[in-house]
Amino acid sequence: MKEEWQRSTVRDIPLYYNPKVSGLRMDTSTNPLGANPAAKEALRECLEMDLNQYPSPYSDGLRNGLASLYKLDPDNFVVGNGSDEALDIAFKSFLEPGETVIMPYPSYSLHSYFAKVNGGKASTVDLDPDFQLDVDALCKANGKMLILCTPNNPTSNLFRRKDVVELLERRDGPVIVDEAYGEFAGKSFIPEVEKFENLIVTRTFSKAYALAGMRIGYAVSNKEIAGVMQRIKIPYSLNRVSEAVAIKALQHQEFMKRSVRVVNEGRKQLETGLRELMFDVYPSQANFILFRTPLKSSRLVEELAKRGVMIRDFGRMRRLEDHVRTTIGTREMNDALLTKLREVITLCR
Ligand code: PMP
Repeated sequence: MKEEWQRSTVRDIPLYYNPKVSGLRMDTSTNPLGANPAAKEALRECLEMDLNQYPSPYSDGLRNGLASLYKLDPDNFVVGNGSDEALDIAFKSFLEPGETVIMPYPSYSLHSYFAKVNGGKASTVDLDPDFQLDVDALCKANGKMLILCTPNNPTSNLFRRKDVVELLERRDGPVIVDEAYGEFAGKSFIPEVEKFENLIVTRTFSKAYALAGMRIGYAVSNKEIAGVMQRIKIPYSLNRVSEAVAIKALQHQEFMKRSVRVVNEGRKQLETGLRELMFDVYPSQANFILFRTPLKSSRLVEELAKRGVMIRDFGRMRRLEDHVRTTIGTREMNDALLTKLREVITLCR
């Protein structure tokens, strides 16, 4: 293949994180309680489903469920195959080829990927030393759109509400607030979607709802923005089975709430345990924790993997040298991680 065959804007895109999977997975910030029990119930009902028929093109049943949960209109919602698709739809809908998307750094790596695969450019503005937003720089940065996630991945902190509001007020152009971990922080911009002309919030069923394998996510915005995105999105992108599972999960909120409680308890346990082992722990309002290790982060992650525990290495990223991220687990999962960490620290000292 000649290099020129490939679209020039996507030549430098690497493959996404794709590890050899084994042992206890604390590397992907999924739900420590395992799959949502509502899924099994819905899947049983799906055996009777006529899979010869297409799903609802715009997932109307799920949009109705979301509208009653948030007391909004179904037309405020666009449903996608994971919130990753919702992000992709937003860029597809608003970004002209060659235009720039502004994003804080460090943050979720797929934000720049989606900007680039949609023909745009990504331009980053560094977070401040506390990993909070540099509002002035983000307001002045030249670009059509802005995207941020709060709580931020991988730094795990929530951005100050007033900073995000200021960005929404001062920026001319769509602002995406990615709330993949919003349930764990108990804070959201969803109630504000009709107030701001430029706000797009994205959320997922992969984390607090424990359905990462089903790939379900959504965008929420005022109806005008949602209407544009709805027309751009690939019709039928959410399959019938995933939609049925998501609707059932929405009807059983107690599992999601329990997951948030377990994570809140696990966070305290892990913060204390990690500090006892002399790691530098960052404040978290998500279901994961970022911490700095006195060892080389790649070594720490490798040694842990050999002992059957997977966490994620961020050491190759600027400003995250020697940083790793772990999912917050149940008490037993956290105990297992701390025990193995102690072994590795002793070995490498
Ligand atoms: N946004 C952020 C910040 C994430 O961390 C993730 C999950 N890795 C996503 C979006 C995508 O989630 P999903 O596509 O599973 O809904």
